[in-house]
Amino acid sequence: MTPIPGMMMDRPLLVSALIEHAERFHGSVPVVARDHDGALFRYTYAEAARRAKRLAKALLRLGVRPGERVATMAWNGHRHFELYYGISGIGAVMHTINPRLFEDQVAYIANHAQDRLLFVDLSLLPLAEALRERLTTIHTYVALAPRAALPAGTTLPGLLSYEELLEAEDDDFAWPQFDERSACALCYTSGTTGRPRGALYSHRSTVLHTMNCCAVDGHGVSGEDCVLPAVQMYHGNAWGIPYSATAAGAKLVLAGRQLDGETLFRLLEEERVTFSLGVPTVWLDLLAYTAPRGLRLTTLRRVVSGGSAVPQSLVEAFRREHGVRMIQAWGMTEMNPLGATAALRHKHLGAPEAERDAVNQAQGRPPFLVDMRIVGPEGEILPHDGRAVGELHVRGPWVISGYFDDPAATAAAITADGWLATGDVCSIDPDGYLRIVDRAKDMIKSGGEWISSIALENAAAAHPDVAEAAAVAVPHPRWGERPILLVVARDGRAVDVASLLEFLGARVARWWLPDKVLVVSELPRTATGKVSKATLRDRYRDHRLPGR
Ligand code: ADP
Repeated sequence: MTPIPGMMMDRPLLVSALIEHAERFHGSVPVVARDHDGALFRYTYAEAARRAKRLAKALLRLGVRPGERVATMAWNGHRHFELYYGISGIGAVMHTINPRLFEDQVAYIANHAQDRLLFVDLSLLPLAEALRERLTTIHTYVALAPRAALPAGTTLPGLLSYEELLEAEDDDFAWPQFDERSACALCYTSGTTGRPRGALYSHRSTVLHTMNCCAVDGHGVSGEDCVLPAVQMYHGNAWGIPYSATAAGAKLVLAGRQLDGETLFRLLEEERVTFSLGVPTVWLDLLAYTAPRGLRLTTLRRVVSGGSAVPQSLVEAFRREHGVRMIQAWGMTEMNPLGATAALRHKHLGAPEAERDAVNQAQGRPPFLVDMRIVGPEGEILPHDGRAVGELHVRGPWVISGYFDDPAATAAAITADGWLATGDVCSIDPDGYLRIVDRAKDMIKSGGEWISSIALENAAAAHPDVAEAAAVAVPHPRWGERPILLVVARDGRAVDVASLLEFLGARVARWWLPDKVLVVSELPRTATGKVSKATLRDRYRDHRLPGR
């Protein structure tokens, strides 16, 4: 469409505009990142921006063309941050590979994406070497390190040094302007529910999503914040933080590989972090470190917890022990990834704590531009009355219109009228809050009725001796499926199964009570740190239940 003279300017929404803004208007704000050797590397947005420009020039010199996929296999570090802008800024597509996937999956997604170059952390070189013969499209490997740090005798052909590439360039570079509907990044789902599928983000979707992350009812990232994403940059773009912190001018802390309780606690304190984001496991680990030592977080004000359901006991522990507000959020790789935040409404302000907590036990309400509906088994649209439960469908400018180069997965997920069927089962109340009952695949069907594994887990996690719980279905000749519950005891405590069952009996329907409770030392995890229900289902498929 030709712009009408006198109307607003038609500047494309490009991610390079974010780093350019940071360079010009908050260039001195610090970016702190854990390096390969464990030391903290410190610089500023202005320096990061200049290095991203050098990188852009180096990529062009290497022959990278618009639309081509350039892969990263890296932890949260400053060079990874520069890749976010250097690659996308020239119109190429940054493909963030999750190195914790099975090797077969990594090879599958790199080939499926047709990655041409791979930028890899030193600590992940052995993985790249092990995979090399199976990577059919990558022609250039670059180690995220100075030349001197490169190991002799690597089997990666012609391995380049990132620092050497940057040294050969200067930062005299203007970010090119192009169509905001161009692709900027590609991320595959972690395969919690099957083969990884690619979500291809556009510049437009990323910039609009960033604006929402900076909005108060989104993540509320602001220039007052120091932000530490406790989620990896290959997992849904660290929930957009490399973009939103840059746009807002928040101090940014990139924690490297380790996100264990002790490392996280120290970094949060030493860097005076005010805002962090991660999956519930990360917060459980942090509490397990601080609680027995009587440690208190002194600067952290709020955290966003998402990726899987947030137990109320966790929210309370953060408030009680650290004075931190934990806000639940829901999202998915297919959505850039923010889909909903449990932001309060004006009417909740004077409400008792319990009522506000109940709101936060919802996964959240959608931000403007994201539309949602719930759909019954026959395709009927269900009311937003807080009671009707159906599959959640979403649409909006940061929702995939299909999976990247995957017609079968697209056909299975995109409805005839253009919505993404999420596979999550939930209700939506009249205030727009969605409450996830379960993932369709994780629901337990007993005697034709559904049991919510999330509700069972949350009830169990409220028990003072339980650190973490997972409920999965086990085949049952009479009922079809029955739940078993796996629990991990809190540090220094023991779980008494009879007392736990009594505790659950007061919180869930009788027929929901697990047929068996197993106390285990840990739960299996997916590559993104979520409890792997698929592994548990496999492991306990033949488990003999009492009375079976
Ligand atoms: P994967 O599908 O491989 O786990 P994602 O990280 O994209 O990768 O996962 C998105 C899914 O995670 C959602 O569809 C939903 O099932 C689950 N999820 C995300 N946030 C929450 C939450 N707050 N509560 C419950 N489930 C959540």
